[in-house]
Amino acid sequence: MNLTFNNKTALVTGAGRGIGRSIAEELGYLGVTVICVSKSESSCKSAADAIIKNGGEATFRSVDVADSKAVEVACKSLLEEFTNIDILVNNAGIVKDGLVLRTSVSDWDNVIQTNLNSCFYWVKNLVHPMARKRWGRIINISSVIGLVGNAGQASYAASKAGIIGLSKSLAKEFASRTITVNTLAPGFIETDMTSRLDERTKDSIANLIPLRRMGKPDEIAKMTAYLCSEEASYITGQVFTIDGGMVM
Ligand code: NAP
Repeated sequence: MNLTFNNKTALVTGAGRGIGRSIAEELGYLGVTVICVSKSESSCKSAADAIIKNGGEATFRSVDVADSKAVEVACKSLLEEFTNIDILVNNAGIVKDGLVLRTSVSDWDNVIQTNLNSCFYWVKNLVHPMARKRWGRIINISSVIGLVGNAGQASYAASKAGIIGLSKSLAKEFASRTITVNTLAPGFIETDMTSRLDERTKDSIANLIPLRRMGKPDEIAKMTAYLCSEEASYITGQVFTIDGGMVM
């Protein structure tokens, strides 16, 4: 299917590596101007450089998404440079694994701030121009762990479940402005986040997946691009699980 974008601009958080990088590159390839955001300048710059090298348009900003003030400042300057940011992909995320009784308050706060509160900060600062233009797409990246929970990942699960509640509420609030809001819930995807699992754990994970393998970032990026396109105009408030059939 050919996807239609009509000169749109997208901001992708966590665009430096893994799933976010693949989403940024896919949107760039499809003719969307991409603002690549990540924590370190080297990673978001390399994502923007790759898009430009491939013939697309991109820029980059290093922003700590967990810092509400930093997000506000970045959005102000970006909205001066780009009159509209039409598409927002909240993808940046971290894990701090540990049983709940051994989780420190600072680790808990860090995960919730980075994964969940950040989505609220970016939406709050970018939604007004979308509302004025009566067009917008917001994609929030959750996880299957947000649907089913996981021992040793309570903070991560809580942050990812929170994203689902946030997204459904935003979908209802912004529908009258033709802004759609959808959530993706990936299963195990081959990125730096999962590369630290040992081979035995990877094998036992693959055995839980009907398609018998981990997913690739590109398989999340394709779905994200579709949901950002004109063709997905009647889809909002949904959670799409992309996990090789692991959670049914
Ligand atoms: P990753 O390879 O670890 O990359 C994470 C990206 O997020 C990096 O670009 C990183 O920036 C950025 N980031 C982290 N903290 C940030 C902060 N405070 N401020 C700005 N940027 C920050 O992760 P991934 O596996 O691609 O995961 C991407 C998203 O998918 C996450 O939300 C994750 O929870 C979700 N997810 C992943 C999986 C999986 O199996 N991989 C499964 C389900 C859901 P730097 O490059 O500067 O470090």
